[in-house]
Amino acid sequence: MTIRERDKKHLWHPLKQHQLHPESLAIVKAKNCVLTDENGNEYIDAIASWYTCMYGHCNDYIIEKTHRQMQQLDQVMFSDFTHEPAVKLSEELIKILPKGQDKIFFNDNGSTAVEAGIKMALQYYFNHGEKRSTFIAFENGFHGDTFGAMSVSGLSIYNGPFEDFLIDVKRIATPNATNIEEIKNQLKKYSLENKIAGFIYEPLVQGAAGMKIHDAEGLNTILKICKSNNILTIADEVMTGFGKTGRYFASDYIDTKPDIMCLSKALTAGLIPMAITSCSQKIYDRFLSHEMAKGFFHCHTYSANPVACAAAIAGIELLTSSEIQENINKIAKSHARFSQRIKAHPKVKASRHLGVIFALDLNTKMPRYGDLRDQLLSFFMERGVFLRPLGNTIYLQPPYTISNKQLEQIYKVIEASLTIL
Ligand SMILES: *Cc1c(COP(=O)(O)O)cnc(C)c1O
Repeated sequence: MTIRERDKKHLWHPLKQHQLHPESLAIVKAKNCVLTDENGNEYIDAIASWYTCMYGHCNDYIIEKTHRQMQQLDQVMFSDFTHEPAVKLSEELIKILPKGQDKIFFNDNGSTAVEAGIKMALQYYFNHGEKRSTFIAFENGFHGDTFGAMSVSGLSIYNGPFEDFLIDVKRIATPNATNIEEIKNQLKKYSLENKIAGFIYEPLVQGAAGMKIHDAEGLNTILKICKSNNILTIADEVMTGFGKTGRYFASDYIDTKPDIMCLSKALTAGLIPMAITSCSQKIYDRFLSHEMAKGFFHCHTYSANPVACAAAIAGIELLTSSEIQENINKIAKSHARFSQRIKAHPKVKASRHLGVIFALDLNTKMPRYGDLRDQLLSFFMERGVFLRPLGNTIYLQPPYTISNKQLEQIYKVIEASLTIL
């Protein structure tokens, strides 16, 4: 029996309606930008396996560093102990994080990084004897699948069964030149109630919404209003972090820096799940007290796993190398040229790009999941490219190590796909 056949007996996949889509492709190998299935077919991983493997799959340097760490110290409880990989990672991260991030708190995935950020904000006020229970978030944002993260996510099409259990959230539109005055008025109204604990946002690019890009200046205006009204700001950089936008973090494009940041996905270069919620000294200090209960009692068993920390340190070394920085620039320029080339196509409604992120919206109505989407996905796969359309958006976010030839192959396959619409 093939892996694909054996899979169906016991496995339940995420984001899948098994009755409609019983099949899953079995991948047996990954190297740099190429995935190989059990029949030996190869696919370029044009979205770096959900934006994680940004330095290429099975990167020799990352493997060497984590292998060495595995032989030295595999796992130890982080509430009672500390270790060199966690300390070193905190030092290296603080060097590249936006100004104002001083403390590093470990989680194990993007959703729990957001969950911890939300809890930090709530307890920040609670510790001060203030009850603030509401958050502000963007429409169509995505922040994860645990309850707090689900609550602040605006992409609520799949939250139906859980809606009665979510925390209170006020929604604002993402800023553009025409709506900023309206957003300012909304924010002023909300802040008068003194109930808002924080504003959570994906800076500049909303990933799950279809790589929608918004205005940096408008976002800066929103952040300034939050700061002046004592509303904590939480940047969810789970997707945008570690070079995707052409800077280390999307927040680097914005003058007003966040109080709290959520990091995961590319943090560990795709090797081991881990996440971080970082924050300013001001937040951390609010939890210092002679009372135990004012501490932050949020913990995940594998917090700061040493092997994951080693992968993250190696990832940062690669990210900050001139070679990777040059590659990011090269990919950004290449996307810009492709955008020019494809923009005028009658089947293309819009295209956008920032750093290694590129997206185009098809000039056609298409449900997020549906026949046309499945057809496109098969079209790409049959031509050796793994791309995962979101609604009518085709997007790519290739590993930084992708070659010019592979990039051109992706662009060509996208262009060819427009003829089947
Ligand atoms: C993927 C993602 C999350 C959730 O991360 P998981 O590791 O899947 O829980 C949260 N926020 C953003 C912006 C993401 O892209």
